[in-house]
Amino acid sequence: MEGRKLPPGLHRDTLAVRAAIEPSQYGENSEALYLTSGFLQPDSETMARRFAHPEEGYTYGRTSNPTVTSFEQRLAAMEGTEAAIGASTGMGAILMLCMGLLKAGDHVVCSRSVFGSTMNLFGKEFGKFGVQTTFVSQTDLAEWRAAVRPETKLLFAETPTNPLTDVCDIRALAEIAHKAGALLAVDNCFCSPALQRPTELGADLVIHSGTKYLDGQGRVMAGALCGPTKLVADVFGPIVRTAGMTLSPFNAWVVLKGLETLGIRMQAQCANALAVARWLEGHPAVARVYYPGLESHPQHELAMRQQSGLGGAVVSFDVKGATPESARSSAFHVIDSTQVLSIATNLGDTKSIITHPATTSHGRLTEQQRQAAGIGQGLVRLAVGLEYIDDIKADLQRGLDTLA
Ligand SMILES: *Cc1c(COP(=O)(O)O)cnc(C)c1O
Repeated sequence: MEGRKLPPGLHRDTLAVRAAIEPSQYGENSEALYLTSGFLQPDSETMARRFAHPEEGYTYGRTSNPTVTSFEQRLAAMEGTEAAIGASTGMGAILMLCMGLLKAGDHVVCSRSVFGSTMNLFGKEFGKFGVQTTFVSQTDLAEWRAAVRPETKLLFAETPTNPLTDVCDIRALAEIAHKAGALLAVDNCFCSPALQRPTELGADLVIHSGTKYLDGQGRVMAGALCGPTKLVADVFGPIVRTAGMTLSPFNAWVVLKGLETLGIRMQAQCANALAVARWLEGHPAVARVYYPGLESHPQHELAMRQQSGLGGAVVSFDVKGATPESARSSAFHVIDSTQVLSIATNLGDTKSIITHPATTSHGRLTEQQRQAAGIGQGLVRLAVGLEYIDDIKADLQRGLDTLA
């Protein structure tokens, strides 16, 4: 079926199912999985040309693979960027970003509420190489503006944050970055392109952990960086080929198929999350609910504008407790009373996942640092999946209704 091309102007939802490389001579309707480390070359001339210009043909699995290309084309179509490049994990994509854009003496401004490993990568690992990072408030634009220096090359944000779902203004951050001659990269893991497309709001680059909603069924690790062809092909491509944070073809294939259902999964999981968040807000044992879809969320209006009117699928809540110790034992009671939800630390699965941030993702902070970050001992994070809504509520109710 070579030569059949998609017409221009197709909707994102169509591209989520259709964008890919052409089928092989066998005409497979589901995209093929090319599980091979090397590629046969027709002759020495062609081989030499492909080595000099990797875009002209496949040679070796670290350089590129047709299944990975299909994933990259589909994700770029959904994000609305010119190009995308796969990585082994979400952190691999952020490493690629750093290696591509930063050198000793450069400066980064990053939200203080980003994923913990991202914070370590900028602050600790790249600090070793002479890159300085200033961490600022997720929501205070004046802090971002004040942190910019002549040597600032990159602003990095993630929205909404984990676990407190603080939302930052992508359009405003893009303006600050561009005025400073820097780029804005946004980690779009929590919303996915189904809800939020940062480059439409002015961001230059988009980061994904394919491990989360893109796969959406908790099966594989994957990552990607989306942006203009100029940067993807000329800056990030050579880094993946040299440094080897390559996306495996099997994982690319799993996530490629995951993208086909991303839109409907996100719609359904956001609807479940909103229903749970509303219900939690009315429960007497709950002190506070953090969810951008609720009118009580401090950035509710911004989130609705920026996220296609949806709040995402992560809901956090504080259970009541007179002291940190009693709050923690109440949170543990709620988590341990579940019989359906998964007690685990990841998210972005069709299975709902419940966790206790203060003793897991934020366990290594001091109690003082945790309090500054707003992560109390009574905080419970729920990554809402696709189970029937009344079963999710009943599973939480078991613990909430029997708190001492
Ligand atoms: C999980 C996660 C990452 C890292 O992705 P991996 O695939 O685990 O490497 C980065 N950012 C956010 C927001 C995440 O939730």
